[in-house]
Amino acid sequence: MELNKRQETILQIVKDNGPITGEQIADRLNLTRATLRPDLAILTMAGYLDARPRVGYFYTGKTGTQLLTENLKKIYVKDYQSIPVVVNENVSVYDAIVTMFLEDVGTLFVVDANSYLVGVLSRKDLLRASIGKQELSTLPVNIIMTRMPNITTCEKDDPLIGVAKDLIHKQIDSVPVVRKTDNGDLEVTGRITKTNVTKAFVALADEY
Ligand code: ADP
Repeated sequence: MELNKRQETILQIVKDNGPITGEQIADRLNLTRATLRPDLAILTMAGYLDARPRVGYFYTGKTGTQLLTENLKKIYVKDYQSIPVVVNENVSVYDAIVTMFLEDVGTLFVVDANSYLVGVLSRKDLLRASIGKQELSTLPVNIIMTRMPNITTCEKDDPLIGVAKDLIHKQIDSVPVVRKTDNGDLEVTGRITKTNVTKAFVALADEY
């Protein structure tokens, strides 16, 4: 995060004199407490300063990289997930291809009659089936999909960085966000793709 000149000055004053009250910092800068409030809020929110009631502000001693890492770990799946596109396991490969085009996604999640996750279909899974000799309009997707228990999933409260690592290490484009039922079945509630991770990355860069 880029600090402006006044924020740098405030940081230095707190480093040298902390704990110090907002009033005392304002006096040193010949400014009013109200003028300083936004800068103090930014420095506190970004983690450079901490504030204790009746004591004042003090310097946390954390570097920009430490703060960036801490903030990265505070980005969760639920903050960036998209709506999942699901198909029933009995639909044909042909219909799955049409759904993929109409919904403009690169991965479909496959569910059973109870709407529980049973598989994943990627673009290449569908292409591979298409170059075979099978009749696509009668071939059900459950014959060609990647199936449970080999599906990598995540939950809405997981840190996004862990999902990003899964996308890289497992060489996949998308991970379903699931909710586990009491019976251990998985309901699909969202999806995280490389695009969602890229959006989080850009938002973090804008913040800093
Ligand atoms: P593509 O095959 O179009 O390059 P992916 O890289 O996402 O797309 O998929 C590679 C393979 O991994 C496919 O066979 C797909 O079924 C499977 N796959 C995709 N997502 C997952 C996942 N979340 N868990 C397990 N396997 C997956």
